[in-house]
Amino acid sequence: MSTQPDPSLTDYPRPPPGAPTGVKVIVVGAGIGGLAAAIECRLQGHEVTMFEQASEFKPYGDNLGLFPNSGRFVKRWGIHHELSKKYDGTFITHQNHKAERPEGVADPFAEAPLYDTTRKDLHRILIARAEELGAVLHRGARVDKYIESEDSASIEVNGTTYTADVILGADGVKSKARELVLGIYDAPKPSGYAIFRTAYSADLIRANPECAHLAPEGRDARTIWIGPDVHFIHGTSMNGKEIHWLLTHLDTADVEESWMLPGDPKDALEVVKGWDPVMSAVINTTPPGALIDWKLVFRDPLPRWVSDTGRIAVMGDAAHPFLPTSQQGASQAVEDGVTIAHTLTLAKERGHPLGYALKAYEALRSERVKRAQQVGVTNRNMWHKLDYSKDIDPESVKLPFAVWLWDHDATAYAREHYDEVVARDFAISAPAAQLDIVHEALEKPLQTAVAA
Ligand SMILES: Cc1cc2nc3c(=O)[nH]c(=O)nc-3n(C[C@H](O)[C@H](O)[C@H](O)COP(=O)(O)OP(=O)(O)OC[C@H]3O[C@@H](n4cnc5c(N)ncnc54)[C@H](O)[C@@H]3O)c2cc1C
Repeated sequence: MSTQPDPSLTDYPRPPPGAPTGVKVIVVGAGIGGLAAAIECRLQGHEVTMFEQASEFKPYGDNLGLFPNSGRFVKRWGIHHELSKKYDGTFITHQNHKAERPEGVADPFAEAPLYDTTRKDLHRILIARAEELGAVLHRGARVDKYIESEDSASIEVNGTTYTADVILGADGVKSKARELVLGIYDAPKPSGYAIFRTAYSADLIRANPECAHLAPEGRDARTIWIGPDVHFIHGTSMNGKEIHWLLTHLDTADVEESWMLPGDPKDALEVVKGWDPVMSAVINTTPPGALIDWKLVFRDPLPRWVSDTGRIAVMGDAAHPFLPTSQQGASQAVEDGVTIAHTLTLAKERGHPLGYALKAYEALRSERVKRAQQVGVTNRNMWHKLDYSKDIDPESVKLPFAVWLWDHDATAYAREHYDEVVARDFAISAPAAQLDIVHEALEKPLQTAVAA
């Protein structure tokens, strides 16, 4: 596998901020979705102020994939080169999405690559790009009060009030915005599974002869073990410099949902007891304190994402959390952010109330998001619920080539359909279900669905 970035994808221009539109946007939460919104809003010329509760960003998190539906924005934002140094998008294991493209279907990867990176790298690069574009980022700023009127919306942070035309609650899976603005209280339902996950230097894997083969020098590889109710993933990133492993297992312990909850490698060893000893060898290399044990929960789709006046919206995980097996949490948050940037531009250009922009965002996005969420359950069941008493056809456990999901340009889609959505003369407080537009693209059968 080549370790060089694909020359056809390098040297993308780093566009400057757009001409000022006069639209003021506050983004609460500088995670992946909030930063995507900030970058695209600045490129559109909107003024952006971000508020992030963390006073410093710790390198939490591990592997995170940006599929072509969000990878296309990495290129447009001019940060392709920074991310592609880490990974060039070529698979070396048994599954190669490129090679498996159905005949007659255009290759989404040709236009927009897949970035298989780590959250801490992606996060660092996005923050730098957002600040370079002029987004103002307040750190150590926890938002716990939202105020809105017909003309504007405000937040209170540490006793100071900040006002903007619209506010985006990009404050993650345990969103306060969802609760305070929409009055929707977090009601997670146990999914029956939890996940051990960690990332650390690949040198620790290479130092152990039992598992060294999983982490070749200078290139990236991924190996997956699947079985009844359990799967274990070992992968490398940054051209073989770092590894991550993830173990999704039946949730018997009382684990909370958090990116910071410590896990005990001994518990992980219990789960893979009697399986391939390579997995135990990997687990035994985990540095102290590096393991997270995170509960996987379901949440029903929210009845709406936008406040009564249309001035405040939730986005990313705050609006629609994803199971890791969907591989779409970050990508859908990026799609949200770029969509809002463009609906704001369109509302401004057409002289619409800016609340239309957020309602249009919800109408354009909600059906697609619901379908993408289903993919996580389908993929997981495909691995966990096989009949392991029989020989398994290796082809049957491959993740399907998701054309409808990956070959989607969220900004082009927003620009194409904004007028259609608004022409329905929707009431700003109408629930999302009444606004959903089901386009031809969405009516296609789910190509990710696995034959039952
Ligand atoms: C520390 C951390 C590590 C993660 N690691 C991974 C990973 O390894 N792999 C993976 O696939 N996904 C990971 N995720 C989740 C992943 O980033 C999201 O699922 C996805 O990218 C959607 O992004 P988001 O912007 O909606 O949410 P997030 O990326 O979770 O960002 C939400 C942000 O809002 C901030 N915030 C929350 N409440 C407030 C408040 N009241 N005021 C101000 N700021 C607030 C949070 O501190 C956080 O920075 C991680 C998330 C976090 C927070």
